[in-house]
Amino acid sequence: MESIIQTAYLLASVSFIVAIKMLGSPKTARTGNLLGAAGMFLGIIATLLHREVVRYEWIAAGLAVGTGLGAWMALSVQMTAMPQMVAILNGFGGAASALVAIAEAERILLSTSSEAAYFTLSTIGLSVLIGAVTFSGSFIAFAKLQELITGRPITFPLHHYQSLILLIASIVGTIGYTLGGGTLLLYGLSAAAFLLGLWIALPVGGADMPVIVSFLNSLSGLAAAATGFVLNNYLLIISGTLVGASGLILTQIMSKAMNRSLWSVLFSAVGKSSATGTTQDKNIRSTTAEDVALMLSYAREVVIVPGYGMAVAQAQHAVKKLMDALTVKDVRVRFAIHPVAGRMPGHMNVLLAEADIPYEHLYEMEQINPDFPQVDTVLVIGANDVVNPAARKDTSSPLYGMPILDVDKAKTVIVLKRSMNPGFAGVENELFYQQNTYMLFGDARQSIEAITQALKNM
Ligand code: NDP
Repeated sequence: MESIIQTAYLLASVSFIVAIKMLGSPKTARTGNLLGAAGMFLGIIATLLHREVVRYEWIAAGLAVGTGLGAWMALSVQMTAMPQMVAILNGFGGAASALVAIAEAERILLSTSSEAAYFTLSTIGLSVLIGAVTFSGSFIAFAKLQELITGRPITFPLHHYQSLILLIASIVGTIGYTLGGGTLLLYGLSAAAFLLGLWIALPVGGADMPVIVSFLNSLSGLAAAATGFVLNNYLLIISGTLVGASGLILTQIMSKAMNRSLWSVLFSAVGKSSATGTTQDKNIRSTTAEDVALMLSYAREVVIVPGYGMAVAQAQHAVKKLMDALTVKDVRVRFAIHPVAGRMPGHMNVLLAEADIPYEHLYEMEQINPDFPQVDTVLVIGANDVVNPAARKDTSSPLYGMPILDVDKAKTVIVLKRSMNPGFAGVENELFYQQNTYMLFGDARQSIEAITQALKNM
């Protein structure tokens, strides 16, 4: 039986690795996802065959509750609420790792057979430390993204010193437990680590939230890997390490896309000074769907910039129809994709793929930015922060330094949104007041449908 289990673990691990590779391209992503799920299924079955499993009732109950909750979440959670869901799942992952490690510590305490090795004790300590940080940090990230608490940075006096003390206490606790300090120390260290997670996540705000979610995702993987060592379970070690490494790579990619270092995300309390600004004293040009249709029909080339608002309005299918209507009129249509547009990495790619917009029409920021000065018309659909020129020139802006799509350099810019409200980072956007910018107010889907209709009527 043992060799069957280990073979199944090996197959599951290989399927995880191949699945991650396949997730890298939109063409193979769906199959990759299925392969990963199949690997997980195999891993669960193999785990259930373990000789150490003595009773199945609790496992069956947990499986039923977990499957029910998972299915409900997958079916009901809006695409725009994905980051919150990822955050809360990371939190559960961290909590699970810490709880399993604590259970193992209690088991060691009760067993009279032999003293546990330093290695096992140290992995228990690490599981609890990383798991507890991930748990509390992720729940704060969830609460901020879900707007249960303010999304702005929350700091206490001498915040970073307090964090440092909590970090030192957690590390000392882990070392003490490893050296035989007993389970009381383990509970002490878990309390310190729990607070440390809160102290890490509370000061992070504004545009930095996605980076911290990705970082916590990586930590949840490391906690699982540490638990894998506690249980001597190779599948857990491999899958935890994969999550840890891919989470770190994603964190690095996102930090780079926002021109921030992980250090400054964690420790500079960015967004605190961000002001929403007042908009009354500046002029904007608002326009109508018919006028937009006219402008688009005269253009040789239109670049569409989708953002979070397109996701909220579920406008992707309407956008595809607009693209078709423009193509019929010999207008070239391209899509400019910012790496952090929307609320999750690849958000826009997923939505546009769902509407069958060919991948060849999608351009990364670096590819398309040099072309904007030659573009006749840019249609900004529910994007705001990712086209905010303040990121280039306003050193006081929390967006300063984040690479943006240079739409302000195009000949004409049309912005589709419902109001003058700011985007995720909560800052005003100078683009809306530019001479060459026209605002079309309203829900993005309705606006696009009206433009397409007007185009067809011409
Ligand atoms: P923003 O959040 O900056 O702006 C979205 C805009 O969409 C808002 O200004 C809003 O204006 C408009 N909008 C909302 N609903 C509708 C609707 N139904 N119809 C039309 N417009 C609508 O989005 P961006 O995509 O430009 O930027 C993403 C931001 O999110 C960045 O700051 C990024 O850092 C952050 N982020 C990114 C993540 C990622 O991984 N991609 C994860 C988490 C955060 P109005 O209310 O006036 O309609």
